[in-house]
Formats: sequence, structure tokens, C-alpha cells
Amino acid sequence: MADFSFDTFSMEDATGLMQSEVDAVLVIDRKQNRFRTLSKKGFFKDFLQDSWSYTELIEKLWYHLSDSNERIAEDYQVFLPTSGIFTGKYSRRINLDFGDVVHVAQMMVYPIQEDYYLFLLDELDVNLNREEDQTTKKVNTIQKIYLFSMYIDIVKDTTSSISVTEISDEVVNQQLKYSDWRMMIINMISPEYQAQFLEETDPETLKKKYAPGATFSFDCLMMNLEGKFIWVKLIFSRSETTNDDDYRFVFMVQNIHEDSLEMRETLKKYERMASMDSLTSVWNHGRIETELNNAVVERIRNNTIASILMFDIDYFKNVNDKYGHSVGDTTLKSFAQCIRDGLEGKNAILGRWGGEEFAVVVYDTAMEDAKALAESLRKRVESEAFEKVGHITCSIGVTEIRPDDDFDSAFNRMDHAVYQAKSAGRNCVRFE
Ligand code: GH3
Ligand code: MG
Ligand code: MG
Repeated sequence: MADFSFDTFSMEDATGLMQSEVDAVLVIDRKQNRFRTLSKKGFFKDFLQDSWSYTELIEKLWYHLSDSNERIAEDYQVFLPTSGIFTGKYSRRINLDFGDVVHVAQMMVYPIQEDYYLFLLDELDVNLNREEDQTTKKVNTIQKIYLFSMYIDIVKDTTSSISVTEISDEVVNQQLKYSDWRMMIINMISPEYQAQFLEETDPETLKKKYAPGATFSFDCLMMNLEGKFIWVKLIFSRSETTNDDDYRFVFMVQNIHEDSLEMRETLKKYERMASMDSLTSVWNHGRIETELNNAVVERIRNNTIASILMFDIDYFKNVNDKYGHSVGDTTLKSFAQCIRDGLEGKNAILGRWGGEEFAVVVYDTAMEDAKALAESLRKRVESEAFEKVGHITCSIGVTEIRPDDDFDSAFNRMDHAVYQAKSAGRNCVRFE
């Protein structure tokens, strides 16, 4: 514009400038799900396809992952039809991945009348603006932490200021009732958490439970926009208010996947450590007692056949007296390993009951097989040469768990069988 004059620049000049500058102008007919391109240039010339429906246009413009042109997971497509409705002027920045280049554009929406809009699309030169670039970097970081946020008004049953960081750093225009949103997003919650999600997000629960300013959260597995289930923290925070009838909440989804996996791994490790006998590395008394109990419960509840075995090393006191306590310890370790090896391939759980006594739960094994197993283990111990100590023996009591057992009745039979094995001269198997 060579003949620009500040003093005489008119509305007509402004219109002319916009006509030559704005990259694309579209007129939208939302009801008929269609649009017409009035003008397009720059990369929009190749990008915009006149054959698209309005829904497709929205999908291509912003309903894709912000860092690529990739489609959002199928389940999330249900939100697409509610995301192109405008009741007032609207503007946002969009990222368009086209021809291996990310084009950043500004989109302006002017409602003409109900369900008819004018779209102006204009590419921005982001490279000239370092601040923009920094914003993008910041968003990438936030995106990893907060995936989603919105305002909820329980009384009006509305959502607003929806922000999906995986789509864009800007607020998404989406006309959604809170009640509808709940029923749509439920499918993105992993099935085992759906009941809890419905309970916690129920408007009546929210109203009853939370005072103004209160914040609460719960963790669950939720599908991300790429269709993968990840650990998230769902956070609700009730707005500060002095009005008792004002129930506005901020809702946020925080990505806690990496931390959560690490935490769960650590918890499992601690649980193992707390259940392990430190000398012999088999389950400790508390854990094997639980396993014995589980076997009794399983027999009643699921008709699962199981037998239980108790091992008591013969004359073990002599080992300590003759070779010292430390050799005694090593022998206990080797004894546990010997039994463990003998149980290989069996659905069996081994634990140290205490001192020189060990207990085993063996599933899918009735009395006759349990007796044979005990006999083979007895022989295995008898024939093993233990370091420094040489040969030792053990006495074994066996019982099959019965449908009318409780823990005490089953345990007492097994214990009594050990006593009988000792009375019979040791190094033998007895059963009851
Ligand atoms: P039997 O069972 O054949 O009647 O004789 P026993 O000598 O094995 O029986 P008793 O119950 O009298 O003694 C068990 C011994 O096991 C006593 C104790 O010194 C030893 N013992 C128990 N726990 C440990 C341990 O952790 N380390 C070592 N070294 N010895 C242990
Ligand atoms: Mg003993
Ligand atoms: Mg003993």
C-alpha cells in the first residue's frame, strides 16, 4: 500500500486490506453440516477441502493432537459434534500440521445468525515471535501435567472454559451440559473405576460433600486422546463463595502416569519385603498364615482343592549345639531351598512358620497326591548333603483342606500329624 495516508485511511481501505490479507474466509451452515469457501490462499489453498463437511472441518482445524495432525481416539469423537457451536464472537489460535510443517493460525468466528457463522482464518508467522515459541514450550510442559480443565456450574448444569491441553493451549468452545459431559466421559474411564467416577462426580454428592474452597481428588485409569489408558488424578475444587446456592467447581485432570507407575512398583516391592523371611527368602510367618487362611476360604468359596504340609527339622537343636548358630542359619537357608526346588512346577506356596518349621500350601492337590509329594520331599531332604552338617532329616504332617474346615480345624489336623511323625521316630510323613 504505497499511497497509505494515516489521515485519510477509511473503513473501505480497511475492508480492502482485510480482503487481501486474510488467508481464508468461510461461511458455515451448521445445521446442514456444510460450509462454503469464499476465498483461500497461502497454504489454506491446499489444506481446505471443499468436499469436507463442517464436522470434518472442525476436526481438521482443531480436533486433533496439538503436536501433530493425528486423529483423536475413536471414543473421544463423541465430543466432536458439540465443539463447533458458537453463540458469540470467538477467536483462538490453532496449530495445523500440513506438509511436515506446523502452521500456526488465528481463527475468528462471527455468528451471522443462529447456526450460520463467518470464519476468518489467518496464518501467523510464529518464527518472528519468540514469545509465542516460549508459550508453546510452556504448554508442552503443562500438557504433560494437566491434560484437561473446565469450570462446572452444578446449579445451571453447565461447563465452560474447557481446555484440552493435548488439543490446544487455548480454551475450547464447547457447548456441553455437565450432566451430558459426565455420561460421555464415563466411557473414557477404565471400567473398574467407572462406579467410583459416577459416585464422585454426581451433582448431589458434589453439593453435599464440599464446602466452598474445598479441593479433593481421586486417582484412576483414564484413556488419553491417543487412546491409551494412563493414571490420572481427577481434581475438583469448589469455588470460594458466600452464597450457599452457588455450586461452581473447577475440574482438572492431572497426568500422574509416570509417578504412579513408579509408586506402584515401590509399593509392590515393600509389600514383598514385608512378607519375606529375611533369612531363608521364603514367605514369612504372617504371609504363610494368610496363605493357609486363603486356601481354607478358597475351598469353601470356589471349591478349590488344596492340601497343606508342615515340615519340622529333626533334632535341629543338635545342629546348633555341634556346629554353632551361624552354621544352623546356613542349614535353614539350604533346607528352604531344597524344599523350594522340590516344589518346582507345583502350584505351591512355601513359608517359614517359625524356627526350623516350614509350611506349604499346595493347590489342585488332594490327600493322596499330597502324601506322595510329602514323601518325595522327605527323601529329597534325606539325600541332600548339607554343607558342614551333612545329612539331616525332617518330619512332615499332611492334611487336605475340607469344605467344612475353618483355619483352626485344618491347622490342628496338620499339626497333630507332625506330632505323630515325631512320635513314630521322625524322618517320616504322617497325615490326618
Ligand atoms: P525335634 O523337632 O526333632 O523334636 O527336635 P528339635 O531339636 O528340632 O526341636 P526343638 O523345637 O527342641 O528345637 C528347635 C531348635 O531350632 C531350637 C533352636 O535352637 C533352633 N532354631 C530355631 N530357630 C533358629 C534360627 O533361626 N537359627 C538357628 N541357627 N537355629 C534356630
Ligand atoms: Mg520344632
Ligand atoms: Mg525340630
